[in-house]
Amino acid sequence: FTAKRERTAVEIYREEIDRRTPARLSLLGSLRKSLEAEELTVHFQPKVDLVTSTVIGAEALARWQHPVHGWVSPADFIQLAEESGLIKQLTDQILTSSVRTLSGWHAAGHLLSVAVNLSTHDLLDEGLPKRIANLLERYEVEARFLTLEITESALLADTPRTKGTIERLDQLGVRMSLDDFGTGYSSLGYLRRLPVAELKVDQSFVKNLLLDEQDAVIVKSTIDLGHNLGLQVVAEGIENMPILTRLQELGCDIAQGYGISRPLAPEQFGTWLATTDYAVAGSSSSSLWA
Ligand code: C2E
Ligand code: MG
Ligand code: MG
Ligand code: MG
Repeated sequence: FTAKRERTAVEIYREEIDRRTPARLSLLGSLRKSLEAEELTVHFQPKVDLVTSTVIGAEALARWQHPVHGWVSPADFIQLAEESGLIKQLTDQILTSSVRTLSGWHAAGHLLSVAVNLSTHDLLDEGLPKRIANLLERYEVEARFLTLEITESALLADTPRTKGTIERLDQLGVRMSLDDFGTGYSSLGYLRRLPVAELKVDQSFVKNLLLDEQDAVIVKSTIDLGHNLGLQVVAEGIENMPILTRLQELGCDIAQGYGISRPLAPEQFGTWLATTDYAVAGSSSSSLWA
């Protein structure tokens, strides 16, 4: 018995060490410092209405430059933040920065929307709707201009708490979007139960739209499903014009991808808006009178 108990203790200790490797702890320390110093930045990737060829908004994507290792992939530092309890702070900073930038666009006459990604833990945070309401009030931005992107995996923790958070966000007038659609589980049940306004077809299907017959069927069916449920459908990961044209033919509503623009730093985004051939929401008068 003693021997067995000892072995168990060692196993538990090993697990701790694995989770707390020096490299991981060091990266976590740097992320914590960067959050405290508010050093994370946000890049914006344009979203274009495929019917009117108008820029209607942008997705906000978190960016973190490590003092030594340089740019760290969001997939990595978001996961680290989620596992270490830093995600609330991170989400709040990205939200604040995004809504501040959004109010600047509105002040410049561009009636754009911004879409911010939420993580699994954010949906368990019952204080989030109130903080978002305060943020919108502080920057005098209407809730309908804010979209929150959630993934199916975030909905896997389908607790009453998650549902409650989403419903209170919906009551604020914020739009909810289902990101990476088609890569998770049981999507159809969520679509029926939750107040979602938008579906984002995952980029893995969009990438091979013109090459893979099965991916083409999935994209087409997702667009039809979304429309039949009264949702807007966004295609992400559009890398070239032939794919964009095909999506337009399939009746997809909104397009996003490197083929339109990569995610841009806020200053670059302003320059892009001023020089793009697309119309810009709210700014049609300038192109009419130019
Ligand atoms: P996502 O929300 O699905 O965002 C789309 C990702 O695809 C972004 O990667 C974007 O840069 C990339 N992308 C856009 N167009 C193209 C294209 O045409 N081709 C290809 N190959 N990629 C394209 P990024 O910025 O590396 O972000 C990765 C993921 O990290 C995001 O996926 C999102 O799940 C997460 N993420 C990013 N920022 C945040 C954040 O502020 N909060 C949370 N919770 N997650 C975030
Ligand atoms: Mg997203
Ligand atoms: Mg996505
Ligand atoms: Mg993704």
